Amino acid sequence: MFDVMDLYQQMINDHGKNPRNFGRLADADHEAEGYNPLCGDKLHVYLKTSDEGLIEDVSFEGEGCRISMASASLMTEALKGKPLADFKPLFDAFQHMVTSDISESPDEGRLGKLAVLAGVREFPSRIKCAILCWHTLKSAVKGGDDVAKTE
Ligand code: ZN
Repeated sequence: MFDVMDLYQQMINDHGKNPRNFGRLADADHEAEGYNPLCGDKLHVYLKTSDEGLIEDVSFEGEGCRISMASASLMTEALKGKPLADFKPLFDAFQHMVTSDISESPDEGRLGKLAVLAGVREFPSRIKCAILCWHTLKSAVKGGDDVAKTE
């Protein structure tokens, strides 16, 4: 039988090992640090917005577990080229997905490929790994020097 969880696992492995949009963005207009002390994941997120309010480019660098890298890779892919105004609703949808009951199907219409991370719900310690990049980008958008933390 076709197992969708296997496919999800393959995508997480692929993005975790070969993260997309990995590296420093020289002309970023927003950036922030994020740290997940529970696992040791560290991220630096870069964001470049246009005058029209579009996310022209978004990238990250850092070190962490496969889930944290895959999540950041998928997040940057999902947001590149989108209006900055889309960030907050997508953040909320992602946060809802990873904290909702396992019986609830992820909203694939809204989350797209990000739905592959729905499986972290079964492993509470991994939820922080998956959501670190979102908190980090949120603090980049907001500005300021605070390090985004999952704790
Ligand atoms: Zn982690």
